[in-house]
Amino acid sequence: MILDRPFVSAALLVLTTPSLAQQLPPSVTQPAVARPRPTPIGIPIDPQVAALRDKALTDDTAYAIVEGLTTEIGPRPPGSTQQARAREWAVARLKKMGFRNVRIEPYALDNIWERGVETAEVVSPYPQPLRLAALGNSAATPAEGLTLPIAYFASFNDLALAPAGSLKGKIAFVSNQMQPTQDGSSYGSAGAARFVGPNVAAKKGAEAIVIRSIGTDHGRGPHAGGTNFAAGVTPIPAAALSVSDAENLERMMKLGGTVTLHLVLTPRNVGTRQSGNVVAEVPGSDPAAGIVLIGGHLDSWDLGTGAIDDASGIAITTAAAKLVMAAGRPRRTIRVVWFGDEETGGWGGLAYARRHAGERHAVASESDFGADRVWRVETNLPPSASAVSDRLATALAPLGIVRGAGTAGDGTDIAPVIRTGVAGIDLNQSGLRYFDWHHTPEDTLERIDPEQLRQNVAAWTTMLAIVANAPEEIGSAARKP
Ligand code: ZN
Ligand code: ZN
Repeated sequence: MILDRPFVSAALLVLTTPSLAQQLPPSVTQPAVARPRPTPIGIPIDPQVAALRDKALTDDTAYAIVEGLTTEIGPRPPGSTQQARAREWAVARLKKMGFRNVRIEPYALDNIWERGVETAEVVSPYPQPLRLAALGNSAATPAEGLTLPIAYFASFNDLALAPAGSLKGKIAFVSNQMQPTQDGSSYGSAGAARFVGPNVAAKKGAEAIVIRSIGTDHGRGPHAGGTNFAAGVTPIPAAALSVSDAENLERMMKLGGTVTLHLVLTPRNVGTRQSGNVVAEVPGSDPAAGIVLIGGHLDSWDLGTGAIDDASGIAITTAAAKLVMAAGRPRRTIRVVWFGDEETGGWGGLAYARRHAGERHAVASESDFGADRVWRVETNLPPSASAVSDRLATALAPLGIVRGAGTAGDGTDIAPVIRTGVAGIDLNQSGLRYFDWHHTPEDTLERIDPEQLRQNVAAWTTMLAIVANAPEEIGSAARKP
């Protein structure tokens, strides 16, 4: 989802005024407003829709997909052999499930970044090793590493206020904290330390930067993630300490004196390789009614096995499409896309939008916020389809889902399609646990709660059954996303 977008545009990064709002993409600084809209009263629920929704609550197809991907493939870093194997696995699985027009749509992926050696230790005054992970696009230290004093900043704002040139000869350490929020909005503010912190530190002369992981846990697993450097700024080594190690280092700083760190990071850029989106369809009976585009992303960070980010998203959407397919031919074609590359810049979504620019999409919707229960539905449908939105809210209410009034269409992978004015629907999952494990070694099958996963499938099945079969005209969004 949009909250996951790790990168900001170069234009935003070159700003010299260190205002947080100016340095984040609008999508991060303006999360969907959680204004409630009452669920409509007196709207009948189609018995077939209700039956499908209830059947989904007992369906374990999604769990089997997450289990298969995490067990038979594992981590799926962009441009990797693992990721190529995952595409082949996906094609075989989707064909076996009965989907039509299953294929890989290849594209070239540039600037592939690969992790190397990564170690850190406090040299003085309290010698001990620290756990960390290099951030995507981090530069490398010399092979023997850097041994330098730390410049400590309790928050990203403090780093932004540091005088120009004040970090020369130092390793910046930013330890801003993040609290869990149901809508995930705290990722936008806390995440700034990762999205743009290294760029800001580099511009102030820092030799390297370590940040407290962007996470809500207190464990020793670092949270990986991408960062980016503006054109004209020389990248510096950049890494995320586990939250526990960051807290330890913070305590050392508070004891006073100079803390010296030895840091070794040897990532490298391996250039361009082929990647691809995996596409599968449930053909509709009325091609003129437009495509219902759904999916999640197949790639993952490398520390875990990418269960909640985002095997669960592709599993939920695929399982729902399969249930609707089994119920009979829908009016609209449902196209499920396992987007190839979300984590390093949303390249899969861009490749999809380019390739399918001439096609009519009715609605786009993606799942990329873990596997915990859906708590809110938001729609951005044209006035011609306002009744669809009402039917949706009514049919989802028994799953404990409330209706929000934000502008739907969140998600990095569908963003390029949404930007063309296509209508969007968001089924928002609870983010209260998501950032405990996001991008960490703990993102594994064990994080999936089968019952909450089934509730997700039920919500998506309900949405697809209503939207793919709606007699109303759906196409353009009502409001600018
Ligand atoms: Zn994701
Ligand atoms: Zn992610």
